[in-house]
Amino acid sequence: MNIDELVAIDVHTHAEVSASGEGSLSKELEEASAEYFKVDHGHRKPTLDEIGALYRSLKMAAVVFTVDAESATGTEAVPNEEIAEAARRYPDAIIPFASIDPAKGRAGARQVRRLVEEHGVRGFKFHPNVQAFFPNDRMAYPLYEAIEEAGAISVFHTGQTGIGAGAPGGGGIRLKYSNPMFVDDVAVDFPGMKIILAHPSFPWQDEALSVATHKPQVYIDLSGWSPKYFPPQLVQYANSLLQDKVLFGTDYPLLTPERWLADFDKLPIKDSVRPKILKDNAARLLGLA
Ligand SMILES: [Zn+2]
Repeated sequence: MNIDELVAIDVHTHAEVSASGEGSLSKELEEASAEYFKVDHGHRKPTLDEIGALYRSLKMAAVVFTVDAESATGTEAVPNEEIAEAARRYPDAIIPFASIDPAKGRAGARQVRRLVEEHGVRGFKFHPNVQAFFPNDRMAYPLYEAIEEAGAISVFHTGQTGIGAGAPGGGGIRLKYSNPMFVDDVAVDFPGMKIILAHPSFPWQDEALSVATHKPQVYIDLSGWSPKYFPPQLVQYANSLLQDKVLFGTDYPLLTPERWLADFDKLPIKDSVRPKILKDNAARLLGLA
């Protein structure tokens, strides 16, 4: 990947459909989240080739992952290996991350090593709400040990989620799991593992800013929200204390990079900080710089 040719690195995009056409959410949850994000249903599930072609055409790179929550949802995730294969087809545009259900314990930890060593996977996505676990649950520690050992990154969904929103009982999704303060424990116990707190963490924005300020290896991505809705303290920290740790991310396909960037343009972010958020911080974190 030639970093100089990239205009931006999107650290948060989703592979939502496998080569065989299967999604990683149940129908009910998928419909509810499309409704919540006002997504055009025709664009809800781009293929990996469509993601690669889009980001290539924009001269951007995208971190792509699935969410494996098989034990809680009963639905199999898009295979991690398919994402790694797509990264081989789009080496200029796709950076492969993976997802392993923490409930898979030691078997999951073995998969971490295999995915990093044989498939070039650079990080692992956790979605505590959908996977129904607290990030500091000891059940997930064998996975974290393997991720830290492999030098890979962990991404945690934080704050509100659109998944299950509006469905009866929130589709069974509990919000309590995604308080970033639970990830603070993980950062203490795995000081060598780089961590991304995904999204503005409403209703725990201050918690996220506090954890990222205090723990050197913790970053924040700005995905899942249009920049026009960012809370003021997030903008303030992104401009100052956390300017080297805040990352451009969209949550594509729920938000497109074009829309996110158009709204980001209007945000009062310093000119000296914009390139850091859009590319430089991610390049350093991912070891591409
Ligand atoms: Zn996401």
